[in-house]
Amino acid sequence: MTCIFCHIIAHGLPAEILYEDEDLAVFKDINPAAPIHLLIVPKKHIDSVNALDEKTAGIFAKMVLAAKRMAERHGIQSGYRLMINNGREAGQVVYHLHMHFMGGWGRKPAKG
Ligand code: 5GP
Ligand code: ZN
Repeated sequence: MTCIFCHIIAHGLPAEILYEDEDLAVFKDINPAAPIHLLIVPKKHIDSVNALDEKTAGIFAKMVLAAKRMAERHGIQSGYRLMINNGREAGQVVYHLHMHFMGGWGRKPAKG
């Protein structure tokens, strides 16, 4: 298995996993670009949006609903950004479909 996200999903590589079910895993991005930066990742390996088809595209709705739950859990329904880089020109680096969940800009920094 050469895919880094498949490794994380299989618990073969450490990651801060915040949510998991039979279809999805949600873990913290290792190099956060926002105060809260999560990756919402299907457990089944799909390279990118380009590789989705009628049979597999249902995962997309589940990813968006997981994002909604993450916003609720973090108390940031007031604003969060969902982003998918698709393909090299868009800056996709990891070829295992993932949605970036970014938010938390309005939060006060933790004390201490
Ligand atoms: P892409 O540009 O492919 O949409 O984004 C890949 C994201 O995965 C980047 O934001 C990067 O920081 C994150 N990432 C890459 N390798 C790892 C890793 O091993 N663990 C975690 N948690 N995130 C990673
Ligand atoms: Zn994979």
